[in-house]
Amino acid sequence: MPRIAYVNGRYVKHRDAAVHVEDRGYQFADGVYEVCEVARGFIVDMTRHLDRLDRSLRELRIGWPMSRAALQIAMTEVIRRNLVRDGLVYLQVTRGVAPRDHVFPAAHVKPSIVITAKRADPRALAAKAEKGISIITVRENRWERVDIKTVGLLPNVLARQQAKEAGAHDAWFIDADGSVKEGAASNVWIVTKDNVLVTRQADTGILRGITRTTVIDVARKLGLSVEERDFSLAEAKDAKEVFMTSATTIAMPVVSIDGHSVANGHPGATTDAIRAVFFDVAEKTRTH
Ligand code: PMP
Repeated sequence: MPRIAYVNGRYVKHRDAAVHVEDRGYQFADGVYEVCEVARGFIVDMTRHLDRLDRSLRELRIGWPMSRAALQIAMTEVIRRNLVRDGLVYLQVTRGVAPRDHVFPAAHVKPSIVITAKRADPRALAAKAEKGISIITVRENRWERVDIKTVGLLPNVLARQQAKEAGAHDAWFIDADGSVKEGAASNVWIVTKDNVLVTRQADTGILRGITRTTVIDVARKLGLSVEERDFSLAEAKDAKEVFMTSATTIAMPVVSIDGHSVANGHPGATTDAIRAVFFDVAEKTRTH
């Protein structure tokens, strides 16, 4: 069965799916995206993802390429046509196709939309979470508006590549003052010795992760206290537990930071507990 992508109103074979050479996403990274987890045949936290998409589009003054209801149908249809039960759905909206010029094109230019879906093996993810991952740190070198989920991800790409070449799984951005910003594609959390969950406040310095927001709901359910504040790399290295959140990994334990072992080098009980109840707490939208 061939993979199917949705491109500007049409369902096409993934291998034939293409956008125009003058699409502004391609030329200027002038676009935004979302990634939602698909688990057990449900889209996880779709409302929050589409609300964030709406915010990203408004911040950049890009219009919706289609109605929200139509977009939800197209997302579901791409998931269905690709027989994805567990995996992810990716959607990207750019300002559209126009002769190359930095300033915005005329208002009638229609935003471009692409949707793809991909299967993932939940057992592989669970196996990774059982071991935990290692990360390296890199100096924050991104622009100030990383709260907008743009496709301009070159610093994130370079950080992840640096991690891979260093034999680590992922990378964190660290501010000049030593405080932890976020992962290359995730938010960072620590559990203090007093069992308080700490994650950086979501101002313009990080992306307000949807998983981060839902983990705050999960923490409430579990009776854990949450503090949204800056924390330093030193505090993270000394924490009881460390984990990262993103739609595709939920809560992933970090057991090594720059080669320094966290806690006892094994995933902790709080991270496990969050993973265990996350799906129950999150919003679930049926795809079948
Ligand atoms: N920060 C960055 C830079 C990211 O790319 C992501 C993943 N999209 C996140 C945080 C986590 O966001 P979410 O929980 O919505 O996947």
